[in-house]
Amino acid sequence: MKLTTLYDSNFESNLLGRYVTLKHILPLLDSYENTFEITSIGSSESGEEIPMVKIGSGKKVVLGWSQMHGNESTTTKALFDFYKFIAQKKYYKKEIDLFLETYTFYSIPILNPDGAKLYTRVNANGIDLNRDAKNRSQKESIALRNVFESLKPDLCLNLHDQRSIYGLKNRKAATVSFLSPSADKKRSITASRKVAMELIVKMQQALEEYIPGKIGRYDDAYNANCVGDSFQESGVPTILFEAGHYENDYQREKTRSYIFYAFLSLFDILKTNPSYNYKSYLDIPENLVNFNDVIVRRVGVVINSKVTITSIAIQYEEVLENGAISFHPRVDAIGNLDSNYGHKEIEGNNELVLVNSQESVHIGQKISTIIAKNDRSLIFFKLNGDL
Ligand SMILES: [Zn+2]
Repeated sequence: MKLTTLYDSNFESNLLGRYVTLKHILPLLDSYENTFEITSIGSSESGEEIPMVKIGSGKKVVLGWSQMHGNESTTTKALFDFYKFIAQKKYYKKEIDLFLETYTFYSIPILNPDGAKLYTRVNANGIDLNRDAKNRSQKESIALRNVFESLKPDLCLNLHDQRSIYGLKNRKAATVSFLSPSADKKRSITASRKVAMELIVKMQQALEEYIPGKIGRYDDAYNANCVGDSFQESGVPTILFEAGHYENDYQREKTRSYIFYAFLSLFDILKTNPSYNYKSYLDIPENLVNFNDVIVRRVGVVINSKVTITSIAIQYEEVLENGAISFHPRVDAIGNLDSNYGHKEIEGNNELVLVNSQESVHIGQKISTIIAKNDRSLIFFKLNGDL
């Protein structure tokens, strides 16, 4: 069976959308009780357990953690897709058996359960756990560090989401980005960075088949407070994954599959080109902040009491409402936006417009409608519910 077909009919359909919390994953973990070894690495600042899943019994120890930022759930969904794939005993049996013999894969699906519940980047105390590697002021940071020190992994996977503002020079969205974090200020290519770079090249080559030209390389400025940089500094190869935007996929149901394929290639389940070199890492295009969700180009609005022809960039704000994430459009920028691209582009043809029935517009403004003043035709409107 073709891998994409297999994935499409076998992904973890109990986890959908952007809002993924302990409440969603605990019943699934219960169902794996007899398949994988499931332990707790400690508890969060508000007393929630932080579960960890152990798969395989091989010599190569890999440690991954997702939702260190509570509102970044795509890689968590991909982890559960991976668990389901490994647990099924029908397809890719030979490859899976080899993976189980070769690797011991420890994964923490939600490192920040309090942030996941509140749909925030930070934890219950408002601390960004990915800036707490040095201080380790939070229980979650201590728990992760303890696991890191006791397991002595050969490889770490730091699993995140990136915002839809990231794109590449080729005008495509950065659907998946990777980083081999720096281990020092000089960004030296240390032995562990090299290993991470090489594995990124391996995954990038595999993903090119699925999302050609949509794979980026994240900025490698060194920050000792970031967990990836700190682990890399200790000499353990660490890879940052950033799950990003794919066209019209605000729920990130497509992107989760690309992260899943990346896992398969990393663990040699998906056969990849055997020749890859760490040097090719530098050929992966750099992530740029060059996208907005929507750009309405060349419309007339009133700015400082004067009618001005300009462009309006709109960014969706993710809001937790009734147990799901809604996307609320807000004005992100006004002006010449020639160097930015919109995931959705709207041409205003120099028409005078009314934003929420007003002639004026300002940055940060929530938007329900943009209509042409002349014939009242709808140029942009806020969709009801989820995108
Ligand atoms: Zn993050």
